[in-house]
Amino acid sequence: CGIIGILGGHEVSVQLVEALRRLEYRGYDSAGVATIDADGKLDRRRAVGKLVNLSDKLVHEPLRGHTGIGHTRWATHGAATEENAHPHRSGPVAVVHNGIIENFRELREELIARGIHPQSQTDTETVALLTGYHMEQGMGPVEAARATLARLHGAFALAFLFEGEQDLILAARKGSPLAIGHGDQEMYLGSDAVALASFTDRITYLEDGDHAVLSRAGVQIYDREGHQVGRRQSRIDVGA
Ligand code: GLU
Repeated sequence: CGIIGILGGHEVSVQLVEALRRLEYRGYDSAGVATIDADGKLDRRRAVGKLVNLSDKLVHEPLRGHTGIGHTRWATHGAATEENAHPHRSGPVAVVHNGIIENFRELREELIARGIHPQSQTDTETVALLTGYHMEQGMGPVEAARATLARLHGAFALAFLFEGEQDLILAARKGSPLAIGHGDQEMYLGSDAVALASFTDRITYLEDGDHAVLSRAGVQIYDREGHQVGRRQSRIDVGA
């Protein structure tokens, strides 16, 4: 339902939750965050119910790292449980997702036939599992995510985080909105500009079918054909 991503210059887990709070108006049943710490380790925390449950959990089991993604979930496939909450993880990859992957049953069957077994009832987890599988086959993170995106039907916004990659968030949109926020040596991702308002007012909206490779130094955007494209940056006043 709500997506946030931060490539920051400081610890991000508290900021991720604060940004999710700005998206609360959209409604949600569970929430979660994942980060990459200074050693490149990927880890996540998830909680059912209000964001305070997630922030309480982060007090007792902190998540370190300057790079992270967060999500508030409005369940469409699978009950509102911790297992079904995002980020979904498979080996070195974590994924948050808004919308619906329409062909997830087919993808799930394929994965199971390869001996890869889902831990949740969600459509989203198949995105993480398929990307993890591509990486296991030798693909790099961006290539693996692209190979996965080429298989997805439906309307979605997605953000990917990869173990060992402190300067990378991959984002994609088809049908569901997604905005990139440009900071000073920092980059942000949000399912709407409101989520980014306290970070920056310089926003680039991805267009339908786009995917973006974000790093602190900048963003490269590719259209549905895979051609690199320029998308306009604008100043958005949403009132921080
Ligand atoms: N379809 C996904 C799920 O049920 C994402 C729902 C959402 O947009 O929050 O987990």
